[in-house]
Amino acid sequence: MEHTDAILVVGGGIGGLVTALSLHQDGHDVVVHEAVPELRALGVGINLLPHAVRELDALGLLADLEAESVAPTALAYFTKRGQPIWEEQRGRAAGYRWPQLSVHRGTLHRILSAACVEQLGHDRIRLGHRLTGVRSDGDRAIATFETDRGAAQVSSPLVIGADGIHSAARAQRYPHEGMPEWNGALLWRGLAETEPVLDGRTMVWAGHPDQKFVGYPVLDLDGGRQLFNFIAEFRTDSVVLAEREDWNQPGRLDDFIDRFESWRFDWLDVPALIRSAPGTFRFPMVDRDPVDRWTFGRTTLLGDAAHPMYPIGSNGASQAILDARVLTGCLRSHPGDIDRALERYEEIRRPATAQIVLANRGLGPEAPMQLVEERAPDGFDDIGDVITRDEILAVTDGYRRTAGFALEALSDGTSIADRVDD
Ligand SMILES: Cc1cc2nc3c(=O)[nH]c(=O)nc-3n(C[C@H](O)[C@H](O)[C@H](O)COP(=O)(O)OP(=O)(O)OC[C@H]3O[C@@H](n4cnc5c(N)ncnc54)[C@H](O)[C@@H]3O)c2cc1C
Repeated sequence: MEHTDAILVVGGGIGGLVTALSLHQDGHDVVVHEAVPELRALGVGINLLPHAVRELDALGLLADLEAESVAPTALAYFTKRGQPIWEEQRGRAAGYRWPQLSVHRGTLHRILSAACVEQLGHDRIRLGHRLTGVRSDGDRAIATFETDRGAAQVSSPLVIGADGIHSAARAQRYPHEGMPEWNGALLWRGLAETEPVLDGRTMVWAGHPDQKFVGYPVLDLDGGRQLFNFIAEFRTDSVVLAEREDWNQPGRLDDFIDRFESWRFDWLDVPALIRSAPGTFRFPMVDRDPVDRWTFGRTTLLGDAAHPMYPIGSNGASQAILDARVLTGCLRSHPGDIDRALERYEEIRRPATAQIVLANRGLGPEAPMQLVEERAPDGFDDIGDVITRDEILAVTDGYRRTAGFALEALSDGTSIADRVDD
């Protein structure tokens, strides 16, 4: 068995890499253990909310990210016929000191992994190490990995399970939890090259929670075109289509395009855009019930391993980044007392993220789209006859507070890592 004084981060995804960078910046020795043998630029689009961007800025990554992403200035809701429901400003346009950023997940992952290699060193990222078990042992934790040279055991003062939605670290603690829970919706995600949609800086949500199209640009291309991320989603009772969630599962156009055939708006031809993409990935809308505990002795959970949630409201990556920064801040404010630091980390992050899991089950910020569909399924002449501005604001302002990016919460500029004191 290898004995180390380094903190072990299990999982080199978005949460794991940000955790490693953040702890390293605070002077900790960190080693990342990642299951895959090679880090590749996987996924499609992802959104980073201003509070998460603030934390990436504190890690010195903002300029690199801004150079390879798009900062949306607005979010607009439309009906399934493309009629406008609502538009709100986003990021700096909404008065935030930090932008919201829409980025290819692979680009974000590449920027994070390059920073890790540069700052921690190549030998601090161990690929081909799949966690199979972790147990506490007094003031240490012992992690077991499967590698191509057989099993390897590492004993460390702290093991952080950032191993995603199928977390082995979590399964160890919750062996009867089973598969994530599916709510009946399936998502087909893809990237298409296109002329700018609307002003090229607007995130669009069209339809209603039973059938929805979400789109946003993630990169400005030469010649004024953009790489545009889309998600086509609908609820189905076909269990044939639902299988183990896998971010790399290819989607088949024939499984979903019919449902969007009539979604040809004067501002976007949805089926034409989807058809122009080289392919799609299919993913079921899944989450898990919030759990009562993340920390067991010297092991804890972070990111999707801790709080898998529906991909609604741009929270998946953003909340993992906040976890990483709060954990760093807690270790900083409790030097030499890892147990108290972990306790504090959970006190701050577990209730906060559980609220988002539950808010997303209740439609989250999409609730106004559902109300408009119920009240005016055949369209309207004036949106003001269907839903009031106050009704929409009650939902969107409430969700911003739940997700932690209300404007006032970011106004003093302090990193969340500096705001963890009891
Ligand atoms: C390949 C892939 C593509 C994705 N694409 C998108 C996307 O397009 N849009 C989107 O919104 N979200 C996507 N996600 C999910 C998104 O990255 C997360 O929801 C969010 O960023 C939270 O990050 P995380 O670090 O908790 O989890 P993840 O980013 O999922 O990272 C988990 C990491 O742990 C590793 N791992 C898993 N099991 C083990 C194990 N037993 N031992 C060691 N390592 C392990 C995984 O290989 C992965 O690198 C994707 C995730 C993956 C893995």
